[in-house]
Amino acid sequence: PVLDWKVRDRVLANGRITLRQRAEILDLVGDAKRITAVRVRDMDTGAQETLEADLVIDASGRGSRLRHWLSALEVPPLEEDIVDAGIAYATRVYQAPPGAAAGFPAVNVAADHRLREPGRFGVVYPQEDGTWMVTLSCTRGAGLTAHDDDFLPYARTLRHPLVADLIDLAKPLTSVAVSRVGANRRLYPERLDIWPEGLLVLGDALAAFN
Ligand SMILES: Cc1cc2nc3c(=O)[nH]c(=O)nc-3n(C[C@H](O)[C@H](O)[C@H](O)COP(=O)(O)OP(=O)(O)OC[C@H]3O[C@@H](n4cnc5c(N)ncnc54)[C@H](O)[C@@H]3O)c2cc1C
Repeated sequence: PVLDWKVRDRVLANGRITLRQRAEILDLVGDAKRITAVRVRDMDTGAQETLEADLVIDASGRGSRLRHWLSALEVPPLEEDIVDAGIAYATRVYQAPPGAAAGFPAVNVAADHRLREPGRFGVVYPQEDGTWMVTLSCTRGAGLTAHDDDFLPYARTLRHPLVADLIDLAKPLTSVAVSRVGANRRLYPERLDIWPEGLLVLGDALAAFN
């Protein structure tokens, strides 16, 4: 988040850039040959408007609705590859114990790829405010916990006790938050014979790897 804020501050220091916050892109306006605008909804008031544009860039991440938007403009279906190992993440923030709040290294316990069973892995990432972000993860079938009481016992099932030993010493500041959006996904715009002028797609909206 710190890096994101720094980049954001530098971008917004450029007076030519205006940021519209809490604005949702509803769809693209144009046709299969050219995108000319986007339809935007103000998430607070619900008001909708059309913003004309010479160039529209879809950077809306792995949940991008680009395929849907393009099919509404009668662009042929975008080919898509999905490789999904069923990776899930459970994350909890801790207060680092006294003496470990600054200069503590990141800790990563990886899965053992030689075992023919679902992988389990865990990390402790020290953050700048004396907290640790602790994430436990697994591939499909390893029964990741979503419950606070099961977090430490699950950490004990990793192949090395270090993550569990560390969080046993630390105070939890949040409950467990679970994410299951770990599929690898790639779109292939380059395989289409037709692509609308004035439209780019980048970042996870184009290719999200894990
Ligand atoms: C659990 C997890 C762990 C990860 N760990 C790592 C890691 O350790 N290292 C690493 O390099 N990468 C990691 N990644 C991947 C990394 O987060 C992404 O590759 C990166 O954030 C993609 O950036 P982006 O700008 O393309 O999309 P995002 O960061 O997803 O940004 C997309 C933005 O678009 C907004 N948006 C979406 N739809 C609309 C709409 N219709 N209208 C308006 N706005 C919209 C979203 O709210 C969001 O703010 C991880 C991802 C996940 C999910």
